[in-house]
Amino acid sequence: MQYRKAVTVWQLAKDGNVTRTAVNRKPDRALRRVMDRLLPQPCRFCGASGSEHRTGCCSACRADLPWAVPGCRRCALPLPGGDVCGECLADPPAFTATTVAFRYAWPVDTLVKRLKYEGRLADGALLGSLLAERLIAEGVPAPEWIVPVPLHPARLRQRGFNQAREVARALRRELGPDIAPGMLRRIRRTDSQAGLSAPGRRRNLRGAFQCNAKDTPRYVALVDDVVTTASTIRAAAACLRRAGVARVDVWAVARAA
Ligand SMILES: [Zn+2]
Ligand SMILES: [Zn+2]
Repeated sequence: MQYRKAVTVWQLAKDGNVTRTAVNRKPDRALRRVMDRLLPQPCRFCGASGSEHRTGCCSACRADLPWAVPGCRRCALPLPGGDVCGECLADPPAFTATTVAFRYAWPVDTLVKRLKYEGRLADGALLGSLLAERLIAEGVPAPEWIVPVPLHPARLRQRGFNQAREVARALRRELGPDIAPGMLRRIRRTDSQAGLSAPGRRRNLRGAFQCNAKDTPRYVALVDDVVTTASTIRAAAACLRRAGVARVDVWAVARAA
């Protein structure tokens, strides 16, 4: 975990000696957020200056991004010429449709990792606004609320931020709907999903989410950074539907095949 950054603190003692200590301090995220928005951003992919895009992606890099290919209309799994994938046919998910901007490939994967593990929140803002462009281009209807997939509170403390919420902030800025305040919570820590079978992943996520909506909205967009196996969004969407939400769509930056 790269998030905690060591900074050097210089102290002048009464006897005139200077001591130097390295301390771990969380970077000031609020300040970083303001600076990222005020200063002209070089392209966050290639570093070229004078980016015409306010969030920092030059036109050459934009053309080269791994834009999503047509996929399953339920879970966005790449599916050449297909409509709904085998898994969604056999076991329909609680969400209606999934929209992703990218395939999980270079350089989008690098940005997602920089966001998650290095706390580079501006990368989340860029990914979120590129996703917003895609949603607008595809004419996806606006939900009442945006619901970021929550982290367990212990994981949130450890990381200091929720990457899905960072993407959701950009979506709110670009598209308008508010982020539902604490509507969905993660109440159980889950093991890593890697290496588990589909039933194993489902067991692993059973009871992981809890929904506390007072006025249940009819239509929400569940937002995540990357959809890998769809088991997390399946569990989260099922929880929202059980609480009475009529329609849940999934919006994610990227889909891993
Ligand atoms: Zn570039
Ligand atoms: Zn599918």
